[in-house]
Amino acid sequence: AATGHGFDLDQRLREREHVNLRRHLDTAAAVAKRTRFVDDSTTGPTADAERLVFASNNYLGLATDDRVQRAAACGARRVGTGAGASRLITGDTGAHRELERDLAACKGADRALVFSSGYAANVGTIAALDPDVIFSDALNHASIVDGCRLADAETIVYDHCNPDDLRDRMAARERVAEASEDWLVVTDTVFSMSGDVAPVADCCAVAEAFGAWTMVDEAHATGVFGDGGGIVTREGLADRVDVQMGTLSKALASQGGYVAGDESLVEYLLNAARSFVFSTGLAPPAAAAAREALRIARDGERTVQLWENVARIREGLESMGYDVRGETQILPVWVGDRRDALALSKRVRERGVLATAIRPPTVPPGSSRIRVTPMATHTDADVRTCLDAFETAGEEVGLL
Ligand code: PMP
Repeated sequence: AATGHGFDLDQRLREREHVNLRRHLDTAAAVAKRTRFVDDSTTGPTADAERLVFASNNYLGLATDDRVQRAAACGARRVGTGAGASRLITGDTGAHRELERDLAACKGADRALVFSSGYAANVGTIAALDPDVIFSDALNHASIVDGCRLADAETIVYDHCNPDDLRDRMAARERVAEASEDWLVVTDTVFSMSGDVAPVADCCAVAEAFGAWTMVDEAHATGVFGDGGGIVTREGLADRVDVQMGTLSKALASQGGYVAGDESLVEYLLNAARSFVFSTGLAPPAAAAAREALRIARDGERTVQLWENVARIREGLESMGYDVRGETQILPVWVGDRRDALALSKRVRERGVLATAIRPPTVPPGSSRIRVTPMATHTDADVRTCLDAFETAGEEVGLL
């Protein structure tokens, strides 16, 4: 889950005690599986029920695609199940190099570097860049927040998706700046809990005016927007964004993270990013799977199916009277009250549909929502089941 800079660890730990652990375990397990999730629990009223997964980041449904599974198996056979060492020792293989070449080409960058996770890519990269001041969107992902902490930089949080506020804060900070400071502006492109898209071009313009570097996290955009390359590719900003980071773990159906940018950036990171240097290379089957998933994503057919399903779910929910926000494949169904959101999620689940309630402290009080994420591989019948579940559940909870 995303957190943002308002994240309060103590509060989160207190909150945890009241969470229904089983629900989280189910959802987490479902993420890696199919459009359908078979619960093997025999303890609850829903034991052995088949549920549809509308809660995963496997947006293109490629985690169970034959071609991707075969590529993973080939990677294991050709190179081995593990890299065996850090890339800088003996863990550097053709599987990594081929994936990095394809990622760089897809992103319009000189070069790319893959890390063992998106989390490792963010913390390792931000810490290695070692900026003096970081300007960070208020709702940036936890791995960016942790990267800012690890970099030990002065972190200035600007209002979510608000380049005017970014400009004001940069101008205020400039008044007390010392001559040789390095500044970094960092933002998610697609925000995971709201489906918002950052105004990347405007953020670049502000950063350029102050001579700052820009870094974006395309975790939820890679494979989905811009012929697979993300929002930066869609908007033709590859020359203006210094660091394009993303994950292989969502639409690309694998595991790992990447950074794409100039030759000099990648050459620097592969020696200076501690999460790269001191960690075993990405598992070759994961690299091979991600490369095949990227090829399929770029081919575009799955994306067309995804957007059809997204449009049908959005229109269906809106016609029932739900308030569906965002502008991406992530559909936040606005509920407001946290108890209503929980009740709706529970009722929907009883009708065989998994969609997670997102509540405080992950989001501000009064903005609880259900996060619905259609997949390219949901069938017409799956879409119908999802819509029916929301209609009945919404009436039962009194929201419709
Ligand atoms: N950035 C964002 C915006 C994310 O949503 C995530 C995953 N939740 C990450 C980074 C971390 O990626 P990974 O899961 O590959 O470590």
